[in-house]
Amino acid sequence: MKKINSLKIPIYRDAGFYLENADKTSKAFNEETLHSREPETYIYSRYRNPTVVAVEKQIMELEESGWALLCESGMAAIDIALSVFQKGKDTGNWLFFSEIYGGTNSFIDQVLIKGRGLNIHRYYAENGSYDLNRLEKVLIEIKPELLYFEVISNPMLMVSDVKSILSLAKNTDCKVIIDNTFATPYLLNPLNMGADLVIHSATKYLSGHGNVTAGVVCGNDVALMQNAIEYRKLVGHMLSPDDAYRLGTQMKTFRLRFKQQCRNAGMLAELLEKHPAVETVLYPGLLSLPSHIIARNLFEKDAYGAMLTFDLAGINDADKKKKRDTFIGLISDQIHLIPSLGDTETILLPVEPVWGEKYPLPGMIRLSAGVEEPEELLQLIIGALDKLVE
Ligand code: PLP
Repeated sequence: MKKINSLKIPIYRDAGFYLENADKTSKAFNEETLHSREPETYIYSRYRNPTVVAVEKQIMELEESGWALLCESGMAAIDIALSVFQKGKDTGNWLFFSEIYGGTNSFIDQVLIKGRGLNIHRYYAENGSYDLNRLEKVLIEIKPELLYFEVISNPMLMVSDVKSILSLAKNTDCKVIIDNTFATPYLLNPLNMGADLVIHSATKYLSGHGNVTAGVVCGNDVALMQNAIEYRKLVGHMLSPDDAYRLGTQMKTFRLRFKQQCRNAGMLAELLEKHPAVETVLYPGLLSLPSHIIARNLFEKDAYGAMLTFDLAGINDADKKKKRDTFIGLISDQIHLIPSLGDTETILLPVEPVWGEKYPLPGMIRLSAGVEEPEELLQLIIGALDKLVE
């Protein structure tokens, strides 16, 4: 086939690649064991795929990392990132912050503790923040080999003091994995601050249209990333070339989208805070959030993320629940209840039905801001809130 004058990344759907003869086959398999970032010869798409490798390059530029490995979901990225630190019976203590994605918490309980028998410890937040003096003591006491946390927590939007936490972890020789899904590379690049691995659910802001499920592990340590390539190959966590292509195309507008999403979230947070139908607003850009100062010192570009959580006012829990259901009913034709985030459309999720006992707050709603015209969003949301206090 003649060379095509296209500037787009081609989608290579080959399951296995053509190797010409036995010598080339032997050379390709030998080279494969070197786990270079970009293979000379492709063998099999579960090992490496050229479309996927091209999109990984785009993520490396965003996350300012030496390596990026795409996989089929954020959970697959978490599995890869954690598994490369596992050393059989010699695995030491691992420490996880309490305010992390529910799926990650279930993975810890069901896979790491119950299935793999690992020594897991949790570090609990108190009153909307992590006490770093206490963290220092815990790090010295239990000497974890690995620390795992998220930059912005879900659904309370607490911001972790990434620089200080990394410095405490480094003092005790502890490796660190950071889930940067909510903050995104637009707000910070944790590898540049000393994190060992950064993971994303690319299902969220990186793909940004609610139509791709993907994850990525970013890092700079060659040996660690080569182990990650081998693990991804052996457990079959590879992303499909079609999904990689769509992710790559959609990522071209990532900065534009996220900038507008942060603006919309910030504007909404300020207005919601003043509205009589709302009791509390949690948003890292608001002075009222306990971790606001941390966010201000940490994030670049004067932006605070695009997620916000608010609690509706009510005389008791039953009243709050009624108001929540009325509010959702009033806007549900335009702003949909979808259990995800980061889409171009604003979407919402009631907190109590999802988090249950952890956050039994019947008036609480989490909102993922989209890229709509601000006036359009305001009219809808403030209009519905006005009706709650009429
Ligand atoms: N990390 C965070 C912060 C998330 O919110 C999620 C999913 O919501 C994940 C990881 C898992 O990602 P995925 O659903 O793509 O597996």
